[in-house]
Amino acid sequence: MEWFELGGFLLGLLLGSFLNVCISRLPEHESVVKPRSRCPECGHSIRGYDNLPILSWVLLGAKCRDCGKRISWRYPAVELAVGLWFLRTANQIVLLERAKVSRSIGSTPQEYVAILGSAILGFLLIGLMVMDWKTQRLPDAFTFPGIAIGFVLTCIHAALLAPGEGDIALNPTHQLRMSGPGSFQARGNVFLTGTEAMVLGRVAAILGAALILLTVRWVYKAARGHQGMGLGDVKLLAMIAAFTGFTGSLVALVVGVLSAAVYAVALLMTRRATAHSKLAFGSFLCAGGLFAASWGERLVDWYTGFWR
Ligand SMILES: [Zn+2]
Repeated sequence: MEWFELGGFLLGLLLGSFLNVCISRLPEHESVVKPRSRCPECGHSIRGYDNLPILSWVLLGAKCRDCGKRISWRYPAVELAVGLWFLRTANQIVLLERAKVSRSIGSTPQEYVAILGSAILGFLLIGLMVMDWKTQRLPDAFTFPGIAIGFVLTCIHAALLAPGEGDIALNPTHQLRMSGPGSFQARGNVFLTGTEAMVLGRVAAILGAALILLTVRWVYKAARGHQGMGLGDVKLLAMIAAFTGFTGSLVALVVGVLSAAVYAVALLMTRRATAHSKLAFGSFLCAGGLFAASWGERLVDWYTGFWR
């Protein structure tokens, strides 16, 4: 491991520590800035030297220094998860720089935008996964800014495309050119430039992903007579689409549904749940989103390879 990757891991640990504060407070609509972190049992402020990610939890023996009550393993687990996600981010940057040297590729700002988006998406998804599991809530304070950040990064990525890159031609085989003056002629049979296609495509992806779950929600209500899915899940899938596009959101949805089904069957078979038990579907959707962000593209390439 290089120093750069170790730095990414340590940054991730600190962000994970902050994410723990968000997880404890956002579902209760409390400020994440003040007051300082407190023990949820006795209310004592946590001392700075007891607030080191993972390390303090181990050194304190998973107990509060003041009241001796257990501190949940959720805290170090979230810190470790975000740490590993940012280690992966740092590794992606190292690999990109190596590829630039060995294959003498020029500057690749759009690759950096994609890596930054993946890092932010991971932070948001790990937080939402734990919040939905604990409280059955997916706070707007994460999903709405998430949709906005994902879309803005897509616009930046689109603006950085090279001229002609990703253009969509109306009829690629025939050079049907308009005989008009000015720039209209220069565009030839281009229907949408790459930038337009990327931005409009992402808007369609966000709306399409939301529409899928809104439809599922409506069908469930019509069939069962009560609401089975919250609007939080709809916004969550829209957020995943904002970062990974429509294909990514479909991968996330399929993985989320499959893993939730496996979990539900396991609970039913061991009689730890009944057909009326509630399932934190958003947590599984978050796991699907992390999967899509990590392996989505490779999976789609592998799958579409069958049809070529
Ligand atoms: Zn305490």
